[in-house]
Amino acid sequence: MYHHIKKLMYTVNVGSPDPRFGNMLLEQFGGANGELAAAMQYSIQGLNCEDPDRKDMLMDIGTEELSHLEIVGTLARMHLKPMKKSRDAAEADPLIAIAGGGGVGLFNSMGDAWTADYLKITGELDVDLRSNIAAEARAKIVYERLINFCDDPGTKDALQFLMTREITHMKAFTAALESLGKDQFSIGKIRPTPGLVDEYFNDSTGAGDQGEIDSRGPWNTGGKWKIVESPELEQGAERQSEKTTAGNHKPAAEETGKTRVKKSA
Ligand code: MN
Ligand code: MN
Repeated sequence: MYHHIKKLMYTVNVGSPDPRFGNMLLEQFGGANGELAAAMQYSIQGLNCEDPDRKDMLMDIGTEELSHLEIVGTLARMHLKPMKKSRDAAEADPLIAIAGGGGVGLFNSMGDAWTADYLKITGELDVDLRSNIAAEARAKIVYERLINFCDDPGTKDALQFLMTREITHMKAFTAALESLGKDQFSIGKIRPTPGLVDEYFNDSTGAGDQGEIDSRGPWNTGGKWKIVESPELEQGAERQSEKTTAGNHKPAAEETGKTRVKKSA
């Protein structure tokens, strides 16, 4: 059950409205990493969640995100308001000024309509929690950029609150994931193929004009890692693709009868 209390979660003061900044704020209203996306993602994950403890957390945070949506919407509206009357202000975003009457709509800062395609809901709790940790990191960095582009102290203050809460959520989702006690690379039930799982394909070789290098690091060296040099070249894929036109290209592995399959991106 939702209950609306007629006050904001955080008080919003705007000194001087800036319609162009109001437009930027819409990224956190109807954008891919915005508050509506967060609210819907966590709340719907919560509806699907069969773990009562983590369901409670998902519903709590999903509901808080709706309160954030209200704060961002209020802030954006205050900044966009001059568009109602001023032609100069209206030029900051004709979509808002002409179609939306100077109010907020579910669009991002580029005028793209909000879409449920933004949501990551897999029905697998640990996988969803990983998506949520990443979503909070994205929300945090977008708030930071907004703060950096903002001159108004009152607006900055509200954005600092919202940015901080995203780190709080990131901490909660991380703790919830860790408390499941699953191995970091254990996803689902089917085990990955031994051997293959530890092979790092060195698929970019040669020296680049910009000083690009063939690097080594913990992502391909040490522990169980085994570097496999240019598997596609080994299999003669370069020669094969020269003979094949783009339209009827077949994966190299199939042509050479080997089992390794590489995505033909
Ligand atoms: Mn939020
Ligand atoms: Mn959040």
